[in-house]
Amino acid sequence: MSVKEYFLPQSLTEATGLLAKHGPSLLVMAGGTIAMPLINEGVSMPERVMGLRQAGLNYVNRSNGTVAIGATTTLTQILGVEALPLLQTAADNAGSWSIRNMGTIGGNIFAPPPAGDVAVALLALDAQVKLVSQSGERLLPLADFYTGFMTNVLEPGELLAEIQVPAAAGQTAYLKYGRKHAVTPAIVTAAARVVLDGGQVKEARLALNGVGPHPLRAKQAEAALVGSALTPDSIAAAAQAASAECDPFTDAIASEWYRRKMVGVYVKRALYQIAGLEV
Ligand SMILES: Cc1cc2nc3c(=O)[nH]c(=O)nc-3n(C[C@H](O)[C@H](O)[C@H](O)COP(=O)(O)OP(=O)(O)OC[C@H]3O[C@@H](n4cnc5c(N)ncnc54)[C@H](O)[C@@H]3O)c2cc1C
Repeated sequence: MSVKEYFLPQSLTEATGLLAKHGPSLLVMAGGTIAMPLINEGVSMPERVMGLRQAGLNYVNRSNGTVAIGATTTLTQILGVEALPLLQTAADNAGSWSIRNMGTIGGNIFAPPPAGDVAVALLALDAQVKLVSQSGERLLPLADFYTGFMTNVLEPGELLAEIQVPAAAGQTAYLKYGRKHAVTPAIVTAAARVVLDGGQVKEARLALNGVGPHPLRAKQAEAALVGSALTPDSIAAAAQAASAECDPFTDAIASEWYRRKMVGVYVKRALYQIAGLEV
């Protein structure tokens, strides 16, 4: 074990102060379900660790049509957020009870695919992330947060403090496909949100996980839907577009080829569910 110092800040200000003082030598830990096994196995060898559990980031506040969720809110707590049923379903699909009791919504945003089962729902809901450092804060769409596999726009000294989820309009669907029915890594996860106006798709969000370097939006598939009725033909076009634009990988669970194939199947199923069509 390499850890020489452990900090447990009692506020966000204290946490960002510690981060400014120690820089990258300080590992930020929320629930620790990803970070702790890596330390125990010697894969990650930080000299200093900062636990965020008591930094005041565990809350769910609703105001002006937005749900503000503190970054260390656990996935079990997310199960109780009735204003966001898509997010509840997503949390229900992430890990087991023990993982959900420890794992946080913030940590899920940083989780490498195929983890990220909650982040993918946040993308479909147009969530924003609040990044805070000693010198200020900024709010940006989650869709602009990711830059690659385990890379993002977080600057040195910044923490993810809060996730803001608008009370987004529309009907939603969430499907996770893995090798087992539950407690399983995703082959593909699809989160969809569609706003219909006069029978036509006014707005579409299709987010995918397990088929790219990070949870991603299938923007060409979204564009294929907008302006059309939600019919088998428009859904087939969206499913095909999603399958073409994703960027899957091969791992011990599934091949790149199979993941891509399943994107088409699960985008179709999610949209059929929203349209009330029989698959
Ligand atoms: C057995 C098992 C099963 C799992 N199953 C699933 C699953 O089905 N679906 C799924 O999506 N995930 C799964 N996971 C992964 C993980 O448990 C979850 O993604 C969880 O939400 C991670 O949150 P955490 O708080 O534990 O992250 P941590 O381990 O605390 O942190 C993960 C990373 O994020 C960084 N980080 C965390 N919070 C912040 C913050 N606020 N600011 C800056 N950086 C931060 C840390 O530095 C670290 O690098 C599983 C993990 C295990 C061990």
